[in-house]
Amino acid sequence: MSATVTSEELTQQHLSIREAFDQQQQHRWVTAKSTPGERIAKLKRLHRTILKYRNDIKTAMFSDLGKSSTEVDITEVGVINSEIRHCIRHLRSWMTPKRVGTPLALIGTRSEIQYRSKGVCLIISPWNFPFNLTFAPLVSAIAAGNCAILKPSELTPASSALMKKIVAECFAPEEVVLFEGDAQVAQELLSLPFNHIFFTGSPAIGKIIMAAAAKNLSSVTLELGGKSPVIVDETANLEEAASKIIWLKCMNAGQICISCDYVLVQESVHDKFVDLLSKQVKKLYGATSEDRQQSPDLCKIVNKHHHARLQRLLDEAVQMGATVRIGGHTDASRLFTDPTVLTGVPDAAKIWEEEIFGPLLPVRPFKTLDDATQFVNDRSTPLAMYIFSRKQKNINKILQEAPAGGVAINDCGIHFYQTNLPFGGINNSGIGNCHGKAGFLEFSNQIGVTIQNRIFPHTKLFLPPYGRSKLVKLMLEGIAKWF
Ligand code: NAD
Repeated sequence: MSATVTSEELTQQHLSIREAFDQQQQHRWVTAKSTPGERIAKLKRLHRTILKYRNDIKTAMFSDLGKSSTEVDITEVGVINSEIRHCIRHLRSWMTPKRVGTPLALIGTRSEIQYRSKGVCLIISPWNFPFNLTFAPLVSAIAAGNCAILKPSELTPASSALMKKIVAECFAPEEVVLFEGDAQVAQELLSLPFNHIFFTGSPAIGKIIMAAAAKNLSSVTLELGGKSPVIVDETANLEEAASKIIWLKCMNAGQICISCDYVLVQESVHDKFVDLLSKQVKKLYGATSEDRQQSPDLCKIVNKHHHARLQRLLDEAVQMGATVRIGGHTDASRLFTDPTVLTGVPDAAKIWEEEIFGPLLPVRPFKTLDDATQFVNDRSTPLAMYIFSRKQKNINKILQEAPAGGVAINDCGIHFYQTNLPFGGINNSGIGNCHGKAGFLEFSNQIGVTIQNRIFPHTKLFLPPYGRSKLVKLMLEGIAKWF
């Protein structure tokens, strides 16, 4: 489907959206009762189908983003692959009810937490990693026994069309179905009383999602973005830091929620570090801007709107006095933005305010760690933070004083690939978590169940009239002693 949906198409979709939702609501209890084996079979089917279409995924991603085949394997197919495999390995244990301890007052009972599916879930995803960010939450939704409706981004139409095909091949619509379309289609979906809404996208749209969810009291997971800082102190291995920062900044042309948004580097090593960043840009992507434009490993900016947005951020910073240390060249006709390192960017520049989401990297010196953490805390809580240091004391101080949704120390972005860790943001960068067990829990209701043993009829002992019950008297005396 094209990015613009006609009113006729919308009406048809509106009907089919409603129908699909009703079908899934009817089917949800069947899905909820599915055994671990049945859920694993679904995950295996999804896995096989994604691998079957691996080359088509690469073609779609090249058409949508000009993305390199290797990066598609690492950041799309590979991520979903490891999410599915991890889930299959652990699902039986995650689904098993967990016994909890018994307080004295309930002696003779036993209690456990049971994991029940939420029901019918809506998954809305962005364009920057279309397959990964649509299918990875779907894996968790299926694992937890849910039905799901998917709405990927309209900005990557080839990927969305292929995902629709994959979903239709794997699932009956009463289990999983995908609707293509833009914000209007998302709004149609949001008017329905979903049991859970899992949204990945910008904080601005996250607020719209949460407001819509509030109308039906649907629970939400919001995986949002923001400005993720890198802090490099004077004890760090500067060469290694520069290489990792440039690698992550240029992956997907910086269009990553956990990309290094900006770098804070200790004053004493600032100049040396900026030179190293420039060297790494040349080493990894080409010596000149022309070479880099030809690099098969640098993808394009998603569309003209985002290209122009980045151009505005760059132009404004330069007009305000920033220095371009490397890069600076852009070509709107090819949606190319050169990896660009900027220094001396004035505080008032917009590039310090909005999420950059592109290959522009402002670098700023700091005197003390307090200055660095203050700068981070003056902005909304980031989704990710990267610390390069050889001093544990410095690392601990930053971790304690500048919170972030996730952190990698002496590396960039690797925590995203750790399936044993929850992945998510804090407030402006998100609410809730995904990946592995955290994803399973996010799509589950944790039900507390207490089972009374017939030998200990507690409730009878506590029945009124309370004055007559010796047990109540004893308990009240006991409680009085605690105060
Ligand atoms: P976006 O918020 O513009 O769009 C995301 C989805 O919301 C799309 O499917 C879009 O069609 C839909 N949408 C747009 N307007 C809507 C509206 N008014 N009502 C309902 N739905 C609407 O985000 P984007 O530009 O696709 O992606 C970039 C953003 O996503 C960045 O901020 C980035 O940091 C964030 N992101 C976060 C993560 C994460 O895991 N935390 C991952 C990737 C991207």
